Amino acid sequence: MSSANIVVLGSSNTDMVVKAAHLPAPGETILGGQFFMVPGGKGANQAVAAARSSSSVAFIAKVGTDIFGQQAIAHYQQEGILVDTIFRDEENPSGIALISVDAKGENCILVAPGANATLTPKELQSVKNTIISGNVLLMQLEIPIATIEQAIDVAVQHDTKIILNTAPAQALSDQLLQQVDILILNTSEAQFYTGMTIENWEEAALAADYLYQKCPGIIIITLGAKGSLLKEKDNYIQIPAEEVNAVDSTAAGDTFCGVLAACVAKEMSIVDAVKLASKAAAISVTRMGAQTSIPFWQEYNIL
Ligand code: ADP
Repeated sequence: MSSANIVVLGSSNTDMVVKAAHLPAPGETILGGQFFMVPGGKGANQAVAAARSSSSVAFIAKVGTDIFGQQAIAHYQQEGILVDTIFRDEENPSGIALISVDAKGENCILVAPGANATLTPKELQSVKNTIISGNVLLMQLEIPIATIEQAIDVAVQHDTKIILNTAPAQALSDQLLQQVDILILNTSEAQFYTGMTIENWEEAALAADYLYQKCPGIIIITLGAKGSLLKEKDNYIQIPAEEVNAVDSTAAGDTFCGVLAACVAKEMSIVDAVKLASKAAAISVTRMGAQTSIPFWQEYNIL
């Protein structure tokens, strides 16, 4: 069984991306520009971001037996990610995402989860030794919540640090949130969990206070081009984003989470971890695509 510093549990998709002048409104058909097909899925993106941070990464995921799943696994292997914890679904296709990107780099994403939705707690239990061997367990919410709960149960018993990125936002039990060491949310996710509007640092701090009642660990709220707010105990730290020429914001959050997990596994301070994660995410928005845009450690390891 694989053993790695960082264990990523999450989705694997194939992204089908079209660039257009603007995003289509309901009922509208737009003649787009460039099309490309690349590996994606929040779990996979974050696993690649962590692996490109010179870290050993094992990926727990599920794909179909189709060509998309085969290509995805081959790609993860090329990235140096351990893949023997990737399950194959005989009945459902691999997950896919249809992504439109406009001229300003804003995106709009429709996901068909396929095999991602059939990754069971029982399968997770069968690879628990991989979680036990890791320093950090990084998860998002594109696979069944029951499987995430199972992974958390394993991780807490063995002191593996739990990082949860609440994307895409959905209802979570108080018990689950209580066990998370580092919670990472973007503003719309933070709005979902708090019911608060978050447009500036002050509102983000109020939301972080609210979230801290449920998740008494470290809270990080990412505010896109503004940067990120870190709440650690009674400290609120604003980490402004780098100023860059944004081309495509796909995977900014995933790059942030994967690099943050890598820095935590390297035992950096959380402030330095957020700084490097922000630098890496800023580079990712200057490039097209999801995994194609994720930078390597040597590109952003400058504090
Ligand atoms: P998500 O992609 O999950 O919606 P955000 O948009 O909040 O998450 O982006 C995550 C992080 O990526 C931000 O905290 C910031 O550090 C960085 N980032 C995002 N957009 C930009 C941008 N336009 N310029 C520079 N950094 C950015």
